[in-house]
Amino acid sequence: MDVKEQIEILVALQKNDTDVERVQGMISGIREKRSGMEARVAEAASAAETAAAELAELRKEYRALEGDVKINLELIRKSKSRLPSVKSNKEYQALLRQIEETERTNSRIEDSMLSLLDRIEAGEKLVAQREQEGKQAEAAFASEKARLDGEVRNGKAQLTKLAAERERIAGSASDALLETFNRTRQLVEGPAVVPVRGTTCEGCNINIPPQQAIELRRFESLNFCPFCNRLIYWERPLE
Ligand SMILES: [Zn+2]
Repeated sequence: MDVKEQIEILVALQKNDTDVERVQGMISGIREKRSGMEARVAEAASAAETAAAELAELRKEYRALEGDVKINLELIRKSKSRLPSVKSNKEYQALLRQIEETERTNSRIEDSMLSLLDRIEAGEKLVAQREQEGKQAEAAFASEKARLDGEVRNGKAQLTKLAAERERIAGSASDALLETFNRTRQLVEGPAVVPVRGTTCEGCNINIPPQQAIELRRFESLNFCPFCNRLIYWERPLE
């Protein structure tokens, strides 16, 4: 097999690698997007739950105060009913003071209830808003899900095709050539096979020595860039 044919195989292997990487990148990008949307749905649901729990807590607090007011009203009613039967003036004044004290307590509790009502109203609005946001996140995910899953399936089909293509290319290569390619691939970051246009290695953008540039044009042996160690081959400069 002459050097030009070997280079053709190397270029095909490299293109296959690049395509696989691109498709894998696309798939993982889609998966990231999908899980981001799922996370937003979960976050929105948990925010709605938190708001609902806080609202329930405020309502519970309100009902407790309501109960206290009722108990105090009952106390006041009983004390008032005792007033006519009280014998001494001292006892009468004491009972009156107790009634007034309980009435003041109730008035304080009612103030608290009013401010609680404000917070309950705000809490109800927040729950409605959070629920709305949850529905929006769910709807966004539902409408995107099918499309994203379809894209992942497409990507996987492309990978299957690329793997078959890879087998075919590798089948036409000698073991030694495959070994050279694989070794180079492990040595370098990014593409293992790059063209040299003019005298510039496209892997590292450094000019290779003029003598090597001349050798490349003869296609007599496989060459490596002396700077980035990639497999290089000569390619006509772009017009
Ligand atoms: Zn280079």
